[in-house]
Amino acid sequence: MKPIDEARSSSAAIPTRRTRPIIAIDGPAGAGKSTLAAHLARRFGLLNLETGAMYRALALKAIENDLSFDEEAPLLEIAAYTRIRLEPQVGGNRVLLDESDVSNRVREADVTAAASRVSVHPKLRAWMVEQQRALGRNGGVVMEGRDIGTAVFPDAEVKIFLDAAPEVRGDRRYRQVAIPRDPNDPRSAPGQPTPEQAAAQKKILEELKERDERDRNRAESPLRPASDAVIVDSTSLSLEQVLARAEEIVRDHLTAGELN
Ligand code: C5P
Repeated sequence: MKPIDEARSSSAAIPTRRTRPIIAIDGPAGAGKSTLAAHLARRFGLLNLETGAMYRALALKAIENDLSFDEEAPLLEIAAYTRIRLEPQVGGNRVLLDESDVSNRVREADVTAAASRVSVHPKLRAWMVEQQRALGRNGGVVMEGRDIGTAVFPDAEVKIFLDAAPEVRGDRRYRQVAIPRDPNDPRSAPGQPTPEQAAAQKKILEELKERDERDRNRAESPLRPASDAVIVDSTSLSLEQVLARAEEIVRDHLTAGELN
């Protein structure tokens, strides 16, 4: 038998399972990850962390400093003196960039496009991943992004890859920003998009496909499901069906103790 001290120190070296779980939700833009993550966080009493908001915040800083999105070194330099904080709230994350609230600004189109470009840089991703691991180290989180199950927490207790056909994702995104119908405009018959609406819809789909292409084909941590992720294709599912399916997956993967 081992002396008690030796036994203690060797058992201390065995990595312990987190007492609270990590639920990783990955998938392309517009698949509904944020809605799902917020729901699961509420349902199971976890914190919801939107990692995309961190890339968006750094992209905003790059815009404010007039930096090229394609050169990694200057981006890394500003990252070194940038503080990005996520404050989980019921409806999503409050995003603080160097202590100023940029939650709305980071959702605008120029920041969205820039985030997708700055996120291709490997060292910048390593910087982000380090911070994301620190945020989730004690578990008890639903972390949403593109590489959570593959790179940030490959040991996450639950991994869901939420997908949907590009046209469906584009349409859902469009509805979030839809130009309201003008009842006095004769071209604006109910159910019929005006030319402006049709053009806006087309532009959203094009931008979404462009982001997908970049996310899926970058060299570092491309968007793909982890081998042990459960894939949920929401193309022909209602929101309620997606939420119910995800809850079922969580219950299948977690013990009663972890769910408390
Ligand atoms: O999820 P969201 O649309 O806010 O992400 C913005 C951009 O940040 C994505 O288009 C993607 O390029 C990048 N991203 C990433 N890895 C993550 C989260 C987001 O590369 N974990």
